[in-house]
Amino acid sequence: MHETIVLVLPADNHVHSEWSYDTSPEASMVRSCEQALALGLPSIAFTEHLEFTAGGPGDAITGIAADARWWNRIKPLDVTGYQAGIQECRERFPSLRVIAGVEAGESHLFAGSAAAIIRGHSWQRVLGSLHAVPHRGKLISADALFGHMPSDEAMRCYFTELLHLIEGSDLFEILAHPDFPRRYWPAGPHLYQEKPFEEEYRTVMRALAVSERVIEFNTRTPLASVELITWWRESGGRAVSFGSDAHVPRRVGDRFKLAVDIVEAAGFRPGRDPYDFWRV
Ligand SMILES: [Zn+2]
Ligand SMILES: [Zn+2]
Repeated sequence: MHETIVLVLPADNHVHSEWSYDTSPEASMVRSCEQALALGLPSIAFTEHLEFTAGGPGDAITGIAADARWWNRIKPLDVTGYQAGIQECRERFPSLRVIAGVEAGESHLFAGSAAAIIRGHSWQRVLGSLHAVPHRGKLISADALFGHMPSDEAMRCYFTELLHLIEGSDLFEILAHPDFPRRYWPAGPHLYQEKPFEEEYRTVMRALAVSERVIEFNTRTPLASVELITWWRESGGRAVSFGSDAHVPRRVGDRFKLAVDIVEAAGFRPGRDPYDFWRV
């Protein structure tokens, strides 16, 4: 009496390769495609970091911080090289849908620079993310925030800036890792909890939902709870994107079976086709 359920995993919409500045020599577009095929993923999106070492025309960052970098490793994206890599993978792996994307960092602070790249080329997936927030005339990375203030204050500071990103930039479609600093929540007796930040979560979720955009379920960050994804649905959210945020091939599609269970329990289902977001 057992029904056979063929589980089709969702697309991995957030993967980094050798074209992102923060990856190791192990990173590889080709190997990542092989991993996606081995797992049976319908598609893989390479969303390389789109960040800038200095502010340009139309970038608010120039009025906020003297140094636009929050990390000295930041390098501009080599769009031409990246696109050649995408083309090669599409030819090599015709049964896998290989999607061209970027992960735009702080695109409300780099509006001019980011728009030039995003609007100047054709991208199928544009993620928006906040890795750093302005604090006392500098951009401070999310992990370093915890060294500047109490942990709960650091999270609130992050959510406040996240709202500025959502309301201040329409360059992206998917909000990546919405509670990014939870990755860096200090070890100790107090584990990270979502509940104390419910109001902050709901505020950013409403802003994202009103603009009809998509939230990401990120499987590199400690996993979001069913309750958190339910807040998204209750805030008017209609679509969820899955992203491993893999920086090495073996992490492509990582923990997707668990992720699917959580998102499904919150009331979302696979979309129109295997490449689509999950929807209510
Ligand atoms: Zn990110
Ligand atoms: Zn990423």
